[in-house]
Amino acid sequence: MRPRIIGNQALASFDFLVIGSGAGGGAVADMLTKHGKTVFVLEAGPCFYDKLDDPTTQPIARHSNDELKAYVRNILGPDSVVEPRTWRAKDSDGDRSFIGDVNPLPKHVGGGCVHADLKMPRFNEDDFRFGTLLAGKYPGASFADWPVDYDMLEPFYGYVERTLGIQGLRGSDPFASPMSTDYPMPPGTKPYLVTKMEEGAKKQGITIFPYPSAINSRPYDGRPACVDCGFCSGYGCPSNAKSSVAVTMLRRALVSGKCQLQAETRVVKIVTNGRRVDHVECINGDGKTVQLKADQYVLSASPIEDARILLLSGNVGNSSDMVGRNLMFHLQTIGIGIFEERLHAHKGRAVSHGFSDFRGKANDPAHPLGGIVEVGGSQGALQESTFYTRILTTPPFQYDGLKFKRLMQQSPARERLCALTMQAEDAPQPTNRIDLDPAVKDLDGLPVARVTYASHDFESSARDFYSPKLIDLLGASGAKYAFIAPKDDVSASAHVMGTLCMGTDPKTSVCGPDGRFHDLDNLWAADGSLFPTSSGYNPTHTIVTLATFVAASMVFPGSPQQGIV
Ligand SMILES: Cc1cc2nc3c(=O)[nH]c(=O)nc-3n(C[C@H](O)[C@H](O)[C@H](O)COP(=O)(O)OP(=O)(O)OC[C@H]3O[C@@H](n4cnc5c(N)ncnc54)[C@H](O)[C@@H]3O)c2cc1C
Ligand code: SF4
Repeated sequence: MRPRIIGNQALASFDFLVIGSGAGGGAVADMLTKHGKTVFVLEAGPCFYDKLDDPTTQPIARHSNDELKAYVRNILGPDSVVEPRTWRAKDSDGDRSFIGDVNPLPKHVGGGCVHADLKMPRFNEDDFRFGTLLAGKYPGASFADWPVDYDMLEPFYGYVERTLGIQGLRGSDPFASPMSTDYPMPPGTKPYLVTKMEEGAKKQGITIFPYPSAINSRPYDGRPACVDCGFCSGYGCPSNAKSSVAVTMLRRALVSGKCQLQAETRVVKIVTNGRRVDHVECINGDGKTVQLKADQYVLSASPIEDARILLLSGNVGNSSDMVGRNLMFHLQTIGIGIFEERLHAHKGRAVSHGFSDFRGKANDPAHPLGGIVEVGGSQGALQESTFYTRILTTPPFQYDGLKFKRLMQQSPARERLCALTMQAEDAPQPTNRIDLDPAVKDLDGLPVARVTYASHDFESSARDFYSPKLIDLLGASGAKYAFIAPKDDVSASAHVMGTLCMGTDPKTSVCGPDGRFHDLDNLWAADGSLFPTSSGYNPTHTIVTLATFVAASMVFPGSPQQGIV
């Protein structure tokens, strides 16, 4: 039996109710309980940990190195048959072009970061001021400055690095902004693949550095070091070497005695009374509708579900008409190289190194704004075999068992493959948005989220600019064949930002500089939904850091830095 109520079961009233137990929600629960507040966390998905609230032992993770379970049986959820989303590129495409998996993020206690491989770079100073640097230069895009800047968040970045346990090498990324504190542990082992890619990078003047990652390279805070098992991206860590928010911040909140978490409890409505939230309505694991209450409320269900909950609640917090708008992803450009020699990149952490040379500079046509590039490996054996089957059954080929066997033995798409993935900055566009699908409903009869999303020329031209450079680097490193993977037809990125953007003007933003809704006195947002722009660095470090900042602002209004002393 999976635990459904976790933490202090005796708590009956709460200072804060947090919707979602992922990267943002876990960080909020930690900061609030650290300062004596009682917190009620509601999580739609199940819990895959035993003893998450036991101070005498590390949590027991029900994760395994099982590709069948993760990719075929979809243990992560959500189930796209009973909880689909819909998608279309633009309004003129009709009500929808697709129903199913659209930007899915795992649904369970700890959220997406349990199954991410948790590359955790900081954003840099420029990432917070693209309003000043870019506004008006890209028609249709709404670049805006963040109401917080790098200097305000810098001590919070350091706090999160120490609290989670982030490995890295300070100063190794030439494009990173200054860090006042060091990473708490050095980088882990460098795989052979990276040594190969460094040969080409040296010729091209590119600096490959160890990716900052929330993965223990040393035993840390009672959790063991990573053993490079190779099942990292898309899998939970069986040994808790991965420093996800679930086994760090959320666990710390749960063992504090000040927090109760209810799994399998989905918030479907926020009920307001004037400028205050009165209570939330939830559907629990038994299918019953219940009402739950606290003094203050925090939305951390990730940007798409945050917006959906507000719209399902009758447009709560939306006097600006900005709820759901400026939805952003990272436009991934993936350069694939096939080498003659075996690189074994499917072993080890999914991505251990990267480079920022393609991040670019604002208003510099010789270096347009792209993003950090992940130097990574390949796929699991099941995905590999599916790929070969697809090729062998596509005309002019005819399926041939012997050819399939040879491909599996030679393994060009796993053993000999290197992938360079650029996570390019996505322009915020008010027309890219979440609303409620007019006809498609989930298993509970509620309208599903509809994603309307099309890339802007801003990121498409960066893709065109850097694609040949990815191919050149693969060639310079010894790849025999190299190509750029086609773009996804339907948005599939796990980097989801915007929809409740923060700002100082209630007419153009949903939340204020401290994360509180402009329209409501006791409702806050604390996750990637607050981001006004997307940066070209992976988002989760900034999600956790900003959520920590927002929670500290709840406890210490106007002087959040007191929260991390
Ligand atoms: C395979 C994979 C690899 C990734 N790798 C990286 C990486 O290396 N680096 C990086 O920066 N990012 C990575 N990501 C993305 C990362 O997981 C997300 O950025 C991060 O988890 C987002 O945090 P969040 O708090 O916004 O949302 P989540 O972590 O998704 O948390 C939201 C939580 O809210 C719950 N919820 C949703 N709706 C409701 C509701 N109505 N009621 C109650 N609860 C609800 C969800 O079940 C979920 O647990 C990866 C993601 C995946 C899937
Ligand atoms: S590679 Fe390391 S951190 Fe990732 S799942 Fe395996 S042991 Fe855990």
